[in-house]
Amino acid sequence: VSQEFDYDLVIVGAGVGGHGAAIHAVSCGLKTAIIEASEMGGTCVNRGCIPSKALLAASGRVRELRNTHHLESLGIQVGGVEFDRGAIANHANTLVSKIRGDLTNSLKRLKVDIIPGWGRVAGQQKVTVTTDEGEKTVTAKDIILCTGSIPFVPPGIELDGKTVFTSDDALKLEWLPKWVAIVGSGYIGLEFADIYTALGSEITMIEALDQLMPTFDPDIAKLASRVLISPRDMETYSGTLAQKVTPGSPVVIELADAKTKEVVDVLEVDACLVATGRIPVSKDLGLSAVGVETDRRGFIPVNDQMAVLSGEEAVPHLWAIGDATGKLMLAHAASAQGVVAVENICGRHRTIDYRSIPAAAFTHPEISYVGLTEPAAKELGEQEGFEVASVRTYFKGNSKAIAEGEADGIAKVIYRKGSGEILGVHIFGIHASDLIHEASNAIAQRQSVNTLAYLVHAHPTLSEVLDEAYKRAVASH
Ligand code: FAD
Repeated sequence: VSQEFDYDLVIVGAGVGGHGAAIHAVSCGLKTAIIEASEMGGTCVNRGCIPSKALLAASGRVRELRNTHHLESLGIQVGGVEFDRGAIANHANTLVSKIRGDLTNSLKRLKVDIIPGWGRVAGQQKVTVTTDEGEKTVTAKDIILCTGSIPFVPPGIELDGKTVFTSDDALKLEWLPKWVAIVGSGYIGLEFADIYTALGSEITMIEALDQLMPTFDPDIAKLASRVLISPRDMETYSGTLAQKVTPGSPVVIELADAKTKEVVDVLEVDACLVATGRIPVSKDLGLSAVGVETDRRGFIPVNDQMAVLSGEEAVPHLWAIGDATGKLMLAHAASAQGVVAVENICGRHRTIDYRSIPAAAFTHPEISYVGLTEPAAKELGEQEGFEVASVRTYFKGNSKAIAEGEADGIAKVIYRKGSGEILGVHIFGIHASDLIHEASNAIAQRQSVNTLAYLVHAHPTLSEVLDEAYKRAVASH
């Protein structure tokens, strides 16, 4: 460390982004401290990826074992299947504690100083840390802000944490409501719909936009709807706002047309999960002390090197990563941004490439994608003067998926006509979240379907759905 500073690097926020940045910083030889106001591990470990995947693992098995038709087709008979809600919730909790402990220990082992308290920028290269006991100042050559996000609750929706709640409370699985309304059909709403329906709840899904699952490619959303929603008897409203939600028994939900705002229906349900997106934690961070203004939605402005911007200018030695920047609100994106920030701190001039970062919903079956949807690719093509083509292949034509008895699914490859450059890949089907990485690599390397059509995929594997798509794209060129 330079003599003038307490640390080379201080990170504010020990979520997945802050943790990743700290580990990379140590490997680059930086003396590092991390400030955390609440639990180590942030949203991902405590209220996000980890507990939700633990609940999905348990509920998914319940669904599988209760799907006797599916198991009988594989030659298996299963007797009555019971589950214990409390035990499922405990398992998720135990996993969260273990991972939180591992993460904290890994930082201690690497000699990263963990400073409890609320971190606030107090001028260039200076952070104050506030706890109940008081305030202290730490100085650092560089500072990374990684303060994450919290659930967004639209006006008109009143939370009580018991009958009307966000994912933070839903993950505790304190009870199993018979009828749950889920507001928002993004990946968080969908994953909870998957958990609840597997455990026997009935679901009504309410989406403000016209397309259910609006972030997914329309073809994927259509087929996913046919598999994840219709057979599970979910009631759905699209183009509809949950205009007023009042907690109680029952929860009363006033539904309105999203365009006219006229009331179209009133629901009375046992519980309501509000999954309407997330907002950044960016207030009271001392940003104005260094001339930084957050954007209209509160996100911290950054460039593609993860430097914090004051107007157009990068603020020296101040960086921000993760959900608080609002770029791609996913755990692995936060870690990737952390690595880029640290590399730049070390003078290595790296930029982040969001195009090749995949996203997944861990429903049964899963949904994953990387790159552009077809409408977005066509819009880009119109602006830049190129044509877009796409091919679809189906899991029902894939030997491995058939052998697994899991043949619902589709893969879609979107590419540039002529050069064949891959612009987007979307998969809905068993193990979609693992299959997507070949496509991420292809997009990162700007590969074309012409090259990938000659890549040999092992047989029989699920990855042949992509193999078939590339070959079909070349044949239709
Ligand atoms: P966070 O993980 O939110 O961490 C920020 C940390 O900063 C917190 O610990 C907070 O206490 C601390 N903090 C804030 N302000 C201060 C301050 N001033 N001083 C000190 N400490 C401060 N992503 C995936 O990629 N895959 C998934 O499967 C997935 N599932 C999810 C499921 C759910 C239900 C939810 C809600 C999210 C899920 N996510 C998933 C998203 C993922 O959790 C976030 O993208 C990720 O946690 C962002 O990491 P972060 O480091 O930016 O912020």
